[in-house]
Parts: sequence; structure tokens; C-alpha cells
Amino acid sequence: MPAVETVRGPVEAGELGRTFMHEHVFVLGTENVQNYGAGDWWDEDEKVADAVAKLRELADRGIRTIADPTVWGLGRYIPRIQRINEQVPELNIIAATGLYTYNDVPFQFHHRGPGTMLDAGPDPMIADFVRDLTEGIGGTGVKAAFLKCAVDAPGLTPGVERVLRAVAGAHRETGAPLTVHTESSIHAGRTVVDLLGKEGVDLTKVVIGHAGDSNDLDYLAELADSGAILGMDRFGLDIINPTENRVATIAALCERGYADRIVLSHDASCFIDWFGPDPATVPAMQPNWHYRHITDDVLPALRAAGVGDAQIDQMLVANPRRYFTR
Ligand SMILES: [Zn+2]
Repeated sequence: MPAVETVRGPVEAGELGRTFMHEHVFVLGTENVQNYGAGDWWDEDEKVADAVAKLRELADRGIRTIADPTVWGLGRYIPRIQRINEQVPELNIIAATGLYTYNDVPFQFHHRGPGTMLDAGPDPMIADFVRDLTEGIGGTGVKAAFLKCAVDAPGLTPGVERVLRAVAGAHRETGAPLTVHTESSIHAGRTVVDLLGKEGVDLTKVVIGHAGDSNDLDYLAELADSGAILGMDRFGLDIINPTENRVATIAALCERGYADRIVLSHDASCFIDWFGPDPATVPAMQPNWHYRHITDDVLPALRAAGVGDAQIDQMLVANPRRYFTR
């Protein structure tokens, strides 16, 4: 079995076990933390201890691996993740590379790359992504094992398109799989499949992230028929799509034979700074949006809806293993 890079080093793909394919440890703005959090609402030791406790709960429930798509734009900082993972060694954490934006590229790429002031050769993003995948991230020795980008409500803006093409370029060079955040209300998955297909991406290595925000079976079947994997990965974000609808949609897709194209997750985090500094805000707003919802509530609901244990294993074990096997 080939090995998959994780925060604590390579792990045999067959050893990944039950895997949640889209969980953040932290979502943070580095400048927010450094300028407004430090000395106020951000205590590094306290937040690390909290993350360790939350991830242990996940590991205690038999989840062996999480894929963490936290990249530039979401506050990726691998030394903190290493410190946490050392204290939860029973859990594999898979790191990602890529860029998270709904609109423009960061200023660090604004004047460099195709069509810009300093237009010389391929997009420099590609070299950064490839380095993360092949040499490691920021001197930590940790290698990313998948790529991440986003298409949200603004659609394929010039910046978003540039990132998608760069991610596709890094995929072609390395074979690394991809996860794309998509806005389901505009059926952004269609745009992604179309563009990545034209870029020569192997669509069986693409997770259409947040596909599970949609209950449109025709849209979801169309994506799955392209070979792509449906990210039913926002369990607990009931404000977007309640659990009972997400469960019914998965049951209907399994009934139609799509269990081999579905992965499960919450898109949760130990702490996210998008909703202000008070850690009580998220649980008050979305009480089910945490790492324990799938094991405690969703799997029993899927079984009650007629989804068999073999199909659950397919979604939690076999599909992630296939995705990460190069
Ligand atoms: Zn996410």
C-alpha cells in the first residue's frame, strides 16, 4: 500500500481508517490573531489544550484520520498543528496546500504570474504548491497531501480562475488529489468540473466540497457521474441545510448506487475567528457543528434511512483511501 503524508509523517493508505475528509483544526486570520487576539482573546496554550481535548473526543469515537483543508487564506500554521498532533498521536491529520479566496489573489501574487507586471513563465503559485507537496511546508518537514481552492457565490472571478488553474497545474505535476470549496446554491460544482476537466485533472481525484449543502439530486448525480466525489461535509451547519435533509439526500444517492462517490465530514473547527472572539458564539448559533455530530447522530440516522454498514464503510474508509492513494 502506498503511503500518505500526514503531520506526523507517512502513513500507509490502508491504515487511514475512518476518515473525515474536511475538518479544520483552526480557522484564523494570522493578522487578526497577532494584532487583536494576542493579549486579549487569544491564548496559545489555552487554545492548543482545547483543540487537543476536542480532537481526542473524535479519536475516542473511532475516527482515525482527518483531512484538514486549511490553506493560505484560512490561517494554515503547521507548527501549531504539530504541537497538537503530538498530544493526540492516535489521530492522523493530513495537511493541505492551495489558496482560499472567493475573489482576488493575495497581493503577494498580484504582480507576479501570467498577465501581470512580472509575467515570467508559469504561475509562481504552482511552484509553492508543489514544494509543499514534495519538499514540505515552511521548514516543518510536514508535507501536504492534497490541494484546496474555492469557488463561492461570486463564481469564476479572474482571481478564482487563476487559483483553480494553478491548483490544476500542481495536480498535473504531482498527482495530488484536490478539494474545492463550492457554493452549492449557484451549482458551482458544475463550473469546477468543467474547468478542471479542461485542465486535464483526473476528476476521480476531486472532492466537490460542500456538495452536501444541496439536495438537488440531479445536480449531485451529474457531478458524481463526472467521476468526482461529493463532499457531504458540512454536517451540523443546519442553517445552510438541516441534518435530516442532508441524511435523506445521502440515502437517496446511496439508493441510486453512488456510495462510492460520497465522503462525510463537518467542516468544523476547534476555533474559528470568523464569528468573533467568543468561543461560545458558534455552539450557541449552530449547536450540532462539532466533530462528534456524525458519529453520535448522523450515522444512526443514515442507518435508520436504510444506508447499510458496508455503504457507511465505503464513505468513511474506502473512498478516502482511494482518493489519497496515488
Ligand atoms: Zn472548510
